[in-house]
Amino acid sequence: MSPLTRVQRFQGCFPDAPAFRFRQAEAALFQPGATGWGSVSVFPKAMRDSMEAKIPWMSVALHRMAESKDKETFKAVLSTEDNLLFETVLMGNAREQWTVCVSSQVGCAMRCVFCATGAMGLKRSLSSDEIVDQLRFWQSFLRASPALEARISNIVFMGMGEPLANVSSVKRAIRTWVDHTDIGPTHITVSTVGVLPVMDQLLEDKGWPPVRIAISLHSADQAEREKIVPSTVPHFLDKLADWCRRYRQILGNRRHHLTFEYTLISGVNDSGEQAETLARFIERCGKPKLNVIPLNIVAGKPFTASEQERIDRFKQVMLRQGIDVMQRRTMGQDIHAACGQLVASE
Ligand code: SAH
Repeated sequence: MSPLTRVQRFQGCFPDAPAFRFRQAEAALFQPGATGWGSVSVFPKAMRDSMEAKIPWMSVALHRMAESKDKETFKAVLSTEDNLLFETVLMGNAREQWTVCVSSQVGCAMRCVFCATGAMGLKRSLSSDEIVDQLRFWQSFLRASPALEARISNIVFMGMGEPLANVSSVKRAIRTWVDHTDIGPTHITVSTVGVLPVMDQLLEDKGWPPVRIAISLHSADQAEREKIVPSTVPHFLDKLADWCRRYRQILGNRRHHLTFEYTLISGVNDSGEQAETLARFIERCGKPKLNVIPLNIVAGKPFTASEQERIDRFKQVMLRQGIDVMQRRTMGQDIHAACGQLVASE
């Protein structure tokens, strides 16, 4: 069970307060100078006092911080009220601003064979506050570091956990950021292993913000995907192609917001033939963008990264078919902050 959220505690303290009161409280969390409820002058003193006593200003605390040698990546191990550890990452991006990579769960139940988080299993899902506060943590970190560029422009759900296995908290957190910061939904990406029933719900959900969606594909062959992504359901690829078709129908103007992620693992999914199969599948799905990720090594796993030459050949196959392919820059490997390396060990 996750700890009670701020909104639940607020309602517990002030059951008769009108809804705008909690929105004021939430807005205060993002005020640059504010350090606690005591300084939030829109509330009468008595109310501030009970908030100070009952509602945490910050739901997470810093346990340990690491900084990459090139100073472009920071990783924070955070602790929850019930003393669980999880990780969040701050990365310099191509626009010379920052991207925050957030976790949605402590651990993960999906057990993708090449991912460190998968190996630890699922401890619990994070609450919306614990997701929201990962951004607030980095905002205050940057405010306290005047030598660093201040602006966070993007948020990606690519830390620990499967966001669509915790979709109500993820949605609430996104709405909070969109309401109270200048980060718009198209600068937020939710990366999913492909939880089809939840993806179906999103197509119908008018309250789901127009964020970008990235689907971790890793193989365009059903039997091969089942081996490396064990959460793969029967006929996953056919169902995914159908989902992409419906996504285009319903959200045609957002077609470009769909990306496939493909982690390249030497000798597993990086052959010319597999590239051709992938290109055909992408075509069938209405040509979403493709992000290839060179595998980051995880201790104790028998996988290695593909050579750059092989990655280049793989990308060539995509380019020949007119597929928009990007290679993800690997960052923070020296502090185990790269994709698939998050485990929150002591
Ligand atoms: N559960 C979500 C978020 C995972 S992390 C998802 O599956 O999409 C974001 C990306 O990193 C995913 O595409 C994931 O498959 C990939 N990844 C996991 N382990 C990796 C590794 N060792 N090297 C490179 N990418 C990895």
